[in-house]
Amino acid sequence: MLKQAVAKLWLRAWSMILTEMTAEEVAWLFWPMGHLSLLSLRRASVILTRVKLVGGLFAILTPLWIAVDIAVFPPEIWHGLAWARLLASAAFAAILFVAWQADRLVDSYKALALLLAVPAMFFLYSYQHMAQFELDGVQGAIATGYTFLPFVMLAGLSVFPLTLLECVAFAMPMLAMPVIAALLSGMNVSFPTLGVTLWLLLLIVSVSALAGLSQLGFMIVFIREAIRDAMTGCFTRHSGEELLDLQFVLANRVNGPLALAFIDLDHFKRVNDEFGHEAGDLVLKNATLQLRNHLRAGDMLARWGGEEFVLIMPSTTAAQARLGLQRACAAGLGRTQDDRPVTASIGIAERIADRVTDWSELVAKADARMYEAKQAGRNKIVGCDGEDDGDACVRSVRA
Ligand code: GH3
Ligand code: MG
Ligand code: MG
Repeated sequence: MLKQAVAKLWLRAWSMILTEMTAEEVAWLFWPMGHLSLLSLRRASVILTRVKLVGGLFAILTPLWIAVDIAVFPPEIWHGLAWARLLASAAFAAILFVAWQADRLVDSYKALALLLAVPAMFFLYSYQHMAQFELDGVQGAIATGYTFLPFVMLAGLSVFPLTLLECVAFAMPMLAMPVIAALLSGMNVSFPTLGVTLWLLLLIVSVSALAGLSQLGFMIVFIREAIRDAMTGCFTRHSGEELLDLQFVLANRVNGPLALAFIDLDHFKRVNDEFGHEAGDLVLKNATLQLRNHLRAGDMLARWGGEEFVLIMPSTTAAQARLGLQRACAAGLGRTQDDRPVTASIGIAERIADRVTDWSELVAKADARMYEAKQAGRNKIVGCDGEDDGDACVRSVRA
């Protein structure tokens, strides 16, 4: 209890510093748990795009340095390095291929981990390989360049919109690299040198984490503004379609239920005509607020058009959806300025019961049933079995 209160206070303090973010959004900067699915989707796409960019660049640049190694080092040194470079280049190309086929956040984690693993392996190999030779002058300088790899990799983390937890998880193995290299080469490095190296790496990780967090912060705010309808706070039609597409794929994968309701307010034009557009806006805002108060945690309400809404209900059967909507309607959708109850005509469709293969079919079926509800006299819910519910919202008037 106390722990929760302290956590809440702490997030509130942060949200006051980052004024444009809510406390919940501030928490999203620290860990990926609880992120909106659209944010995870966008983050996956940004991370994968950047993995492809960096991987592609490294696949080309890594073998090009062979020319420098040949010019500077004797064959016993550059032979091994050239092979390692060619292998690393092939691995970067393979990562590019993997990232091309991926689209989920866990895929992007794997792609990023592979992208970091290749230079890490290359660093460990080159460190040990060079340690066998006494090098000075230009050779020594170029050899020192090889030890910079962990710094480059940690600085590279800054281009990814990672949460703090993710950044730490990806940075840890990189921070361990100089220690592993020193251990493998029989600790021929002095402790102060190792300490300073680790300190510098830590500083670079901190800057990279800040850069990643600021990208993520911008992303959270922009996504929130882009996906929400400014007036009602519901998802916009575009983001609703994206969410529905995602939920349909997920439901298909586990062959689970996915219900959808098409909700159209009744005689809404009259409200505008009789009391003006602003009064209409107020009724709209209130109706969505009432609806959202009765939704389950995972349900998503999108404004499909003027006074039309689509409610996406993951893992919900047709019967459960009908019950949920009956309950929401019974509680009422608010009242008009002359104290008449606001009512809606609702059509429900469900992925399994309706045997649909595409999310747009689900919307079309629910829309057609909403139209049936209108035809049957409005203020009704028509479910998958085609039966209407009697007066869905009028009950609230009697209550
Ligand atoms: P029905 O019961 O058949 O659905 O009748 P209706 O009057 O609700 O439907 P109709 O499609 O004839 O009219 C919808 C009205 O919704 C027309 C439009 O002016 C109004 N509307 C759409 N968007 C908004 C909005 O953002 N604010 C306000 N105030 N009105 C809106
Ligand atoms: Mg209407
Ligand atoms: Mg309409």
